[in-house]
Amino acid sequence: MTSRAWAVGTLVVLIVVLAVFAAVSIPWHRPPAPRADQLAALGSLPADKVERGRQFHSDLRPGSYGAMAIGLLVALVLGLTPLGAWLVTQAGRPFGGNWVAQAVLGGLVVVLVGEVVTLPFAAWRHIIVVRYGISTQSWGAWTVDLLKGFAVGAVIGAVALLGFYTITHLAPRWWWAFGAVGAAALVVLLSFVLPVVVEPVFNKFTPMADGPLRVSLLELAERDGVPVRDVLVADASRRTRAVNAYVSGLGPTRRIVVYDTMLTEATPDEVVSVVAHELGHAKDNDVLIGTVLGAFGAAVAVIALFLLGSWGGLLRLAGIDSIGSPRGIGLMLAVVTVVGLLAGPAQAYVSRTIEARADAHALALTGDPATFEAMQRRLGTVNLSDPDPPTWEYVISASHPSTVERMAAARAYARGER
Ligand SMILES: [Zn+2]
Repeated sequence: MTSRAWAVGTLVVLIVVLAVFAAVSIPWHRPPAPRADQLAALGSLPADKVERGRQFHSDLRPGSYGAMAIGLLVALVLGLTPLGAWLVTQAGRPFGGNWVAQAVLGGLVVVLVGEVVTLPFAAWRHIIVVRYGISTQSWGAWTVDLLKGFAVGAVIGAVALLGFYTITHLAPRWWWAFGAVGAAALVVLLSFVLPVVVEPVFNKFTPMADGPLRVSLLELAERDGVPVRDVLVADASRRTRAVNAYVSGLGPTRRIVVYDTMLTEATPDEVVSVVAHELGHAKDNDVLIGTVLGAFGAAVAVIALFLLGSWGGLLRLAGIDSIGSPRGIGLMLAVVTVVGLLAGPAQAYVSRTIEARADAHALALTGDPATFEAMQRRLGTVNLSDPDPPTWEYVISASHPSTVERMAAARAYARGER
């Protein structure tokens, strides 16, 4: 059997395994959130707040979709014309066209072009979030965040590209196998290290201060049977007024993080409700599920890229001989961008079902749907959410059920519907 035949076989097996894993690990059953309850919940929200949330999102849309369109256009131009390959060659030229220089510097240049052309949209977005009072950042602080983001991306990107092209260099026919394992391993590694290495680049995390709230949160975790060593507070207020909480990390790096804004904006009972939701993620191993799905997805992507590399027409468009050479970075970026956009709605759908399960967990753990609903109302108003977003936008990008869906789920729970 040839390398290509093995690649096709492995790809099929991986896709089947991925499908089976997704089928058993994703909670396909959504707890009820009847539309009648959603509309009643919507009617119970202050009309001016609803209007302001809608206006905020409609003001953000041109920037968000503009950035998406321009990002796609640039990726296609770099990938489907010889321009990307030319940029990589130029980046490696001072180093005599060395492939290591091409891989690292060429990769950075190609990605940087995409970042620079979408920069005006990011700035536009910043103007709007400041105007609506969500962001508390000055332009200086915003720029620092942006540069930190570039730096983190450059380090991770350089390591990934160097690893990838070392493999394609050493095993020109079988790189797909080593690359798939490497990509999956990188996803798992990042899940472990992001909360302890990358998150602290952007925020300071401190253990929640001693007091009745900390005690009740740790008691809640204990009662839930989820070992939590600590609840951390992030200094989110230095850039936003939005409230949030999340769980990240795996095993020894798993942590529940609450924004400091939550502690000033929400009542202690509402914080308990939010943390109960996060405990649901921890208990159901949602970070682990996401990591495994991501690792399989990365392996599938590498093999698919290898197979795509035998499509002569595509290589001719990009002006390259092999998709495994650094000169193919532009083409790789184009493929990743297109696949990312196409996979977005499926990812959002999976995310929403997982979030709905964590909501159901919070309701069951606290047995307090009234506070849960009050907390959703608070989250929605403080964060200027559109409580009932347009269907098309919800389908393509919503990572969470809408505010009215979450309120409706609490109402259904209160009536004993599961
Ligand atoms: Zn969640």
